[in-house]
Amino acid sequence: MGTRGQVRHVTARVAPLGSRLVLALLEDRTRERRVDSIRRDFVANVSHELKTPVGAIRLLSEAVHDASDDPEAVERFAGRMLKESDRLSHLVQQIIDLSRLQGDEPVAQPEPVAVDEIVAVAVDTSAIDAQAKGIAVVSGGDTGLLLNGSKDQLTVAVSNLVANAVHYSREGSSVAVAVRGLDETLEIAVTDQGIGIPAGDLDRIFERFYRVDPARHRSTGGTGLGLSIVKHVAATHGGEIKVWSVEGEGSTFTLTLPRFIPHQEESS
Ligand code: ADP
Repeated sequence: MGTRGQVRHVTARVAPLGSRLVLALLEDRTRERRVDSIRRDFVANVSHELKTPVGAIRLLSEAVHDASDDPEAVERFAGRMLKESDRLSHLVQQIIDLSRLQGDEPVAQPEPVAVDEIVAVAVDTSAIDAQAKGIAVVSGGDTGLLLNGSKDQLTVAVSNLVANAVHYSREGSSVAVAVRGLDETLEIAVTDQGIGIPAGDLDRIFERFYRVDPARHRSTGGTGLGLSIVKHVAATHGGEIKVWSVEGEGSTFTLTLPRFIPHQEESS
């Protein structure tokens, strides 16, 4: 009786432990497969995206070579080559940004980062494109606030939002970057009066390589990586990114991030 009782006792303890182990192993395998498939998709997408500008540059250099006695044609092809190589270096930079953020690991050594500086750099980065389209980029709201995180990552994220706002805006419209301090977080809202995003695409625009209209955006140099980088940066900072948009009217992207609050740091 006693032995049986003991056995029952042991069995009762071992069975759930064993099944938990099997479940954990299965979950591990499933996760491994998912990561593997994401990695394969990513490499396939990257190769595909790289092929386009590389192929174009090759064709254009042949065209330049063949048109050597026609200075006007050479100038035209060279201009397009420049555009394609810009596109290529933009894509490579975004792949580097993304690879630094893999895993959504929290920022290892968060530091106080002045939000005014980040916004100024982001606006500055898009200044040439904005000027070319006659777009006014205006920043405002609360000043002197500090973020808690990685200056590099935060600069990339806000720059991507401002670059998109300019990119998808009509000539002569305006883009607003507004900072608002909340209790423990702060909000950076980037609003444009651009083409907007169809409701059915709003859930997907943060996916890698997702573009609302790949055919239309290919010509304008989009990579489909910018917003996935923003999403990763939000995740590594314990923040979030949200979007509101009306097709044909414009969009607002709001990045909410943890603030660095000096008196809290001192008291802890
Ligand atoms: P891309 O390099 O194509 O801009 P993103 O990841 O930054 O890639 O954006 C994904 C897609 O979301 C874009 O291709 C575009 O269709 C849409 N999008 C992003 N920002 C805006 C915006 N401000 N206005 C309209 N559409 C946008």
